[in-house]
Order: sequence, then C-alpha cells, then structure tokens
Amino acid sequence: MEQILRNFFLFLSKNRFFTKLAKKYGLRFGAGRFVAGETIPNAVDTIQKLNDKGMSVTIDHLGEFIDSKKEAREAADGCIEAIKAIGEHHLDSQLSLKLTSMGLDISEELVMENMRRILDVAEKEDVFVTIDMEDHDRCDKTLEIFKKLRADYDHIGTVLQAYLYRVAEDVQDLNQYDPNLRLVKGAYKESPKVAFPEKKDVDENYKKIIKMHLLNGNYTAVATHDDAIIEYTKRLVEENNISNDQFEFQMLYGIRVERQEELVKEGYKMRVYVPYGNDWYGYFMRRLAERPANVAFVLKGVLGK
Ligand code: FAD
Repeated sequence: MEQILRNFFLFLSKNRFFTKLAKKYGLRFGAGRFVAGETIPNAVDTIQKLNDKGMSVTIDHLGEFIDSKKEAREAADGCIEAIKAIGEHHLDSQLSLKLTSMGLDISEELVMENMRRILDVAEKEDVFVTIDMEDHDRCDKTLEIFKKLRADYDHIGTVLQAYLYRVAEDVQDLNQYDPNLRLVKGAYKESPKVAFPEKKDVDENYKKIIKMHLLNGNYTAVATHDDAIIEYTKRLVEENNISNDQFEFQMLYGIRVERQEELVKEGYKMRVYVPYGNDWYGYFMRRLAERPANVAFVLKGVLGK
C-alpha cells in the first residue's frame, strides 16, 4: 500500500496542470508545514528564527517546470531577490535552486545566462549556491553545467543521489573540482535500470559515497533524516579524525525538528532547507511520497482543520 501511495504522489508531483493551478491558488492542504511561506518577508522571518536557534539555512526559491524564457528569467530574479535579502538582513543562509526553473528544458544558454547573473550577485553578498539534483534524465546536463560554472566560481555546489547506480563514479569524477557536495538518498521516481529499487541497497550506497567524499577531503553535507545514516557519519568522522568543519547535517524544514535541535546541542553544524514561494506543489508532493503518513496533514488541510 505504501509503495502504491508513494508512486501515486510521485506521479502527481510531475503534473504540470496541478503545478500551475497550485501557483494560482496559494499554499493549501497543509503545505505550510513544509513550506515557509510565499514571500521573501515570510522566508526572512523563518530563517531568522532558525538562525536564533543555532541553525544555518539554505533557502530554496521554489520553482520547476517552466515553459518560457520569461518564466526562467523571473525565477532567476526571484533567486537574486532572495540573495539580496540574505545579505541585507545579515542572515546565515545559502541558496538552493533547480536548473529546470532556470530553463534547463529550454536551452543551456538560457541556464548559463541566469546562473551567471545569480552567481555574480551571490559572490558579492557572500552567499553559497547549491544546484539541487532533479530526475535522472537531467543528471548529466546538471553535472555538465555545474562543472562549467565551478571553473569560474568558488561558491557553488551540487547534489548527488545515492539511489543511482552511477553515483560512486560521479563522486570520483567530481573530485578534481574539490566540490562541496550535498549527498542525499534521492527523491524522484526512477527506473530500476538506473536506480536501486530496494531501500537497503540505497542506504549501503549512501554510506559508501559519504565515506568516499569525506575521505577525498571534500566538504560534505549529509542531507538525511535517517538516524542510522547520521550515527554512521558521526562514527566515520570520529574514526578518521575528520574535523566538524568538513561536514554538516542537513534536514528539510518541518521534518524531525527535535532531531535538528539535538544535533545543534551536540555541537554539529545543522543546516535546514527552507523552501518558499508560490511554486510549492511538486515539492509538497515529493514530501508526501517520502512518508505517506504525512497524508494525514493533507486531509486536515482539505477538511479545514
Ligand atoms: P528515509 O529513509 O526516507 O527516511 C528516514 C526517516 O526520516 C523516516 O523513517 C522518517 O522518520 C523520516 N522522514 C523522511 N522523510 C520524511 C518526510 N517527508 N516527512 C516526515 N518524516 C520523514 N533529493 C533529491 O533528489 N535532490 C535534491 O537536490 C535533494 N535535496 C535535499 C536537501 C535536503 C536538505 C534534504 C534533507 C533532502 C533532499 N533531498 C533531495 C531528498 C532526499 O533525496 C530524500 O528523498 C529525503 O531526504 C528522504 O530520505 P531520508 O534520507 O531522510 O531517509
């Protein structure tokens, strides 16, 4: 049953019609539990509160599936506005974005133009930018663009997904760029031709790439809510005398909040991924797919409770 629900929500997450409808009608169905709000002031307020609790943030100006150059440029403008707000309010926050929102499905030229505009402002404001990883079909293009931008900018990183069979090769291939990488299990519906279908295999591969990337001497963001992986990372860094400055834990806004606070108390760097904006639909559906128990929130939202 859980697998059916998971597939159902992942299927819904790709629906362009609902994506557009959701933009029009605003945050609904309990999505506010996972999304900080629709505006920059909402996001600034949330970041400030998290910073006050000792947590760093990466802010995500939500956006995916855009159809025109105009929409892509507007999404880039939104990111620039967010970066300027981070600078203006002296917040401890990075920025995350998706290349599809920058026009990846339209042209590489458009993506590069948008990314350079964002990275130039981010450099001035000293804000690090992470390119989220999307579905497997876009993985090669995303990594190519990351490599080109990394040649010109220091304050850029990307994400690798442990569920992909190819991921260990990507860790090795990217090593020459001394990359700051976020490592995750992976959130999209992928074919068994490209990704491990079984959770236990994903978890083993995840541990393998965390170890590889850390032992390569690179900065590593371990982005998970999974206690077994968190404990594994703690043991690994201790056994290998890796300093707390070389890694951080990351979790999503609204998920396992107490665990986030505990990790801060234990002295670890904890970064919370805070999405905001009106394009909340796809993000929200993927969170429901990860944990169908969250559907209870949706039902409460629908029933107005
Ligand atoms: P799981 O094995 O899925 O979960 C472990 C435990 O965590 C569960 O038992 C449950 O207690 C809790 N949990 C997990 N998810 C939820 C939830 N939605 N609601 C409530 N509890 C939950 N994926 C990408 O493909 N590309 C990205 O760029 C990307 N960026 C990310 C950035 C951050 C900061 C984080 C934390 C995740 C990101 N992800 C990304 C998502 C990631 O790939 C996983 O889908 C997600 O983190 C769930 O996997 P998990 O590691 O938490 O482990």
